[in-house]
Parts: sequence; C-alpha cells; structure tokens
Amino acid sequence: MRAARLHAARDVRIDEVPTPDAGPGEVLVRVRAVAICPSDLRLYQDGHASGVVPDHPMIQGHEFSGEVAALGEDVDGPPVGTPVAVEPSWHCGKCDVCLAGHENLCRNIVFPSFPQRDGALAEYIACPAFAVRALPQGVSFVAGALIEPLGVGIHAVRLSGVRNGQSVALLGAGTIGMCVMLVLKARGIDRIALAEPIEARREWPRALGAGPIAASHQELLDAGVEADVVFECSGDNQAVEQAMRLARPAGRVVVVGIPHPDQVTFDSTIPRRRELTVIFSRRSRGTLEEAIELIGTGAIDMGALPVRMYALEQTAEAMEATAARPGDMLRAVVEP
Ligand SMILES: [Zn+2]
Ligand SMILES: [Zn+2]
Repeated sequence: MRAARLHAARDVRIDEVPTPDAGPGEVLVRVRAVAICPSDLRLYQDGHASGVVPDHPMIQGHEFSGEVAALGEDVDGPPVGTPVAVEPSWHCGKCDVCLAGHENLCRNIVFPSFPQRDGALAEYIACPAFAVRALPQGVSFVAGALIEPLGVGIHAVRLSGVRNGQSVALLGAGTIGMCVMLVLKARGIDRIALAEPIEARREWPRALGAGPIAASHQELLDAGVEADVVFECSGDNQAVEQAMRLARPAGRVVVVGIPHPDQVTFDSTIPRRRELTVIFSRRSRGTLEEAIELIGTGAIDMGALPVRMYALEQTAEAMEATAARPGDMLRAVVEP
C-alpha cells in the first residue's frame, strides 16, 4: 500500500509499504479521510514528540475514518464496506489504571501516530475492533475523521463538571475550542465568552451565539468576564495563567490545549487566592458513542468545520497549511 512516511523533520515521502493484516481482534480499515491535528506538527517539524524520537520512518495521522476492508478472526462486525470512525486511543483494559476507569491514561496505551506506532496517513490501518464504530447514515468521511477531536471536547466538558446555568470562558477557537463549544451548546450551556487572536476564527463562534468575543483574554477581563469554568484550548503556554485570571473564585480551569513550549509558569497567587481547581485533560475516553450520537442526530454538525482537502501526495502541504494557521481553515484533511 502507499503511505506518507516521515523520514526526518519536514521530510515526508510517499513509500510503498506492506499492507497490514487484520489480526485477531482487529479490523482492517481502508482509510478515506485523515484530519491533520496541530499535535501532529511537533513530530513533523521537530522530528520528535516531546523528546520521543521515532525508531523508523513514521506514518502519522490519528484523526481518521474509512471503510471496513477485512475482519480479523473472532471479530464479527461491522461488515466489510461499512463506513466507520475510530477512536485512536487503544488501551489494554487490564492494568490498574484501566480497571479504575481511566482508559485514556492506560499504562500500556497504544496511540497510532505517536512514536513508535504507525498512524493513518496510508491506504490501510489495522485497528482493535473495540475502537471501531459504524458511522451513521449520511455522515461524511470528513465528519467521521473529526469524531476524534469531538471526543476530546466531550471528555474535557465531562471532566469540567460544568452545569447548566454556569458561565464559561474559552481560550482558542481552533478545532478543539470549537468542539468544546459545540458540546457545551448541545448540553444547553450557552453563556460562553471566547478569546481568539485570529479574526476569521471569531466568525463561527459568533454565529453560534458566543459572547462576548474578543481577540485576547485581556479584552475579556476588561469587559468584566469572570467564568465558573474556563477551557484553555489555544495550546499557548502563557494561556494557562490567562485562563486562571478569567476564573471566578472557587472556579475551575480545564487545560485541553497542549501547552507549547511544554514548560508552563504562572503567578500562583491567582489560583491560590481563588482556590481554583485546575484540571489537565488528556485526549478522550469512552466518548465514541456520544460523539457518534451527537453527529448522527444532527445535534452537532462537524461538516460545518472549515477544512481544506489534500491528496496523500500532498501530506507535507497539509502539514505546512496546519502550521500556517490560516483563518479560513481549521483542519487540513488528507484523502489517502
Ligand atoms: Zn488530534
Ligand atoms: Zn491499561
């Protein structure tokens, strides 16, 4: 099969590699859409992910959908040809952390596209059957690929414990910020203040009824915003303190974005005097059913997310477009 493999930083080549088999307990998926996540950029740009260096030319991509191509022995569905979404966080189900219900933090977690496991920027990928679900009728492969970031949003909202009637502030209107917002709105929470520096990215949340909407957290503070729950979705390492500044006393801050650079500093008097609860959210767990239901019932329309399409040969372009953060695109989507 053809695969886009990263040989070194910014060196993506289309290689012919062996097509994987559907092993026991696995489903072989013919990949149809892969959304490029900003978290893919670290490996692409730096040649390592927070210090972890691939031991082989890596196939990246973890936000994907496709069709069932084959079933491993002891797997009885979905039938070959079924359009499917995949939750790319593959836990062991046996370790103490899994048994405590925190499968996303599994001690033996396998995450396709994180070194050393290959991801989905290829014609085929073998996935554990428990991570594969049929897409509802009429849901596109692009929307199917975006079920992963939607799951990240669902998980963050669940962790936050946010209740109806509470106020929310959001930093960052990229894909993850918008997924958090869509989940909040689907739950009837609509007092959402938002800060996003890229002007074009403020239009969609405005159309969804967020407000006030500003270019920076400081503008929100100047407008008197003080939220029960603040979601940091920008991935800016300075935004962790900014989120704390927007939280009301006894409020909560959920850090969903991956701070870049990794080191975060903040004035401890802010969370200390306000007795804030600060939660770091990690990917998602058990969100596939809810994500598929929200999309299938039309409660959330992932098709509204502005995307640009690329062929597999254009994977490097899709990565570069993601790095450039244009206002009119939230995800570059590769069709292998
Ligand atoms: Zn992602
Ligand atoms: Zn485990």
